[in-house]
Amino acid sequence: MTSSAKTNLLGLPRAALEAFVADLGSKPFRARQLMNWVYKRGEGSIVNMTDLAKDFRAQLSECAEIRTPDIVTMQHSCDGTRKWKLSADSSQAFEMVFIPEKERGTLCISSQVGCMLDCSFCSTAQQGFNRNLTTAEIVGQVWLAKKELASFYQTIEAGGPRIVTNVVLMGMGEPLANFRNVVPAVRILMDDYGFDLSRRRVTLSTSGLVPQIYKLAEETNVALAVSLHAPDDELRSELVPINRKHPIAELLAACWHYIDEQNGRSVTFEYVMLDGVNDSPAQARALAALLKGHPAKVNLIPFNPFPGTRYKRSPQPAILKFRDELIQRGVLATIRRTRGDDIDAACGQLAGKVIDRTTVRLGNKLFGVAVQQ
Ligand code: SAH
Repeated sequence: MTSSAKTNLLGLPRAALEAFVADLGSKPFRARQLMNWVYKRGEGSIVNMTDLAKDFRAQLSECAEIRTPDIVTMQHSCDGTRKWKLSADSSQAFEMVFIPEKERGTLCISSQVGCMLDCSFCSTAQQGFNRNLTTAEIVGQVWLAKKELASFYQTIEAGGPRIVTNVVLMGMGEPLANFRNVVPAVRILMDDYGFDLSRRRVTLSTSGLVPQIYKLAEETNVALAVSLHAPDDELRSELVPINRKHPIAELLAACWHYIDEQNGRSVTFEYVMLDGVNDSPAQARALAALLKGHPAKVNLIPFNPFPGTRYKRSPQPAILKFRDELIQRGVLATIRRTRGDDIDAACGQLAGKVIDRTTVRLGNKLFGVAVQQ
């Protein structure tokens, strides 16, 4: 992203945009008109917004713009998945992934350059942490993906149905550690005048920052996913070090509170399947005991390997057995299909390029300071 003194409109949710246009002496409905251009029509140039008065366009162009992160590279998987590497500045990069399916298109976006949480099975963790993405950089990913995909799919479905139907904050970073920028971004995703996605189509995934889950319940009603990965505190603390601070019982209490508060359907619990670590039938039964009777679904994620990892993916029969144990105990469970692994775009494989600036990290750092492609 090139630096500029102009305000990036992609960083302003509706109320902030209304205040911005009011400062310029315009009426609030101008903000809605602007959002219509930016989000519905994907217009990136203020001068082209022809139903805005010429003077207003000129005035706005002086102080505002629509600016997305720059694309460094784009890779295309044989299964249709696409991964973009986007620059955060001249030396930093983060990634987003588009996963097309028959009935929907899911865009997986990042919330930070790197991550601080140090989960032992995640490739992003190895990179360390550099900085939070801004609201405009988070929203800019969706804006940019829609534009890129529209030009790609044009011949197939011009004027057809939406291409990006779902957005998941499951890329690089811990969204709730960047609460201040993520919440306005999620608002723009769900605003009727913004990307107009329903609350069930925007999912925020967290490793379990308990106080921020309570805060989130006050601010928005986005769908919640939680990276659980183990049925007991001892193992979870090893896999997801934040568990030492916020153990499972506290985490689950926060989840049920979120659902109550938001009148939500259920929390999705992500559970990465690690061979011989967390995939036994007894562990499935322990997991079922934790979740049974609560508004919960389990999404089993076959582990995606990356260079240097000590883990292996559970064999398919173990994954099926684990799922069946859950289902037999009345807990909804599905297995996530691995997509884009030939281009390292699958869950936990996003690496970008991160220059680690943290001195304190949770847990044990696996590989020291990493500067990787
Ligand atoms: N920090 C947030 C957002 C990342 S979401 C979170 O932890 O929820 C990415 C999802 O992929 C998480 O559920 C994460 O635990 C999972 N994941 C991480 N590394 C993985 C790997 N190597 N294979 C499969 N899933 C992985």
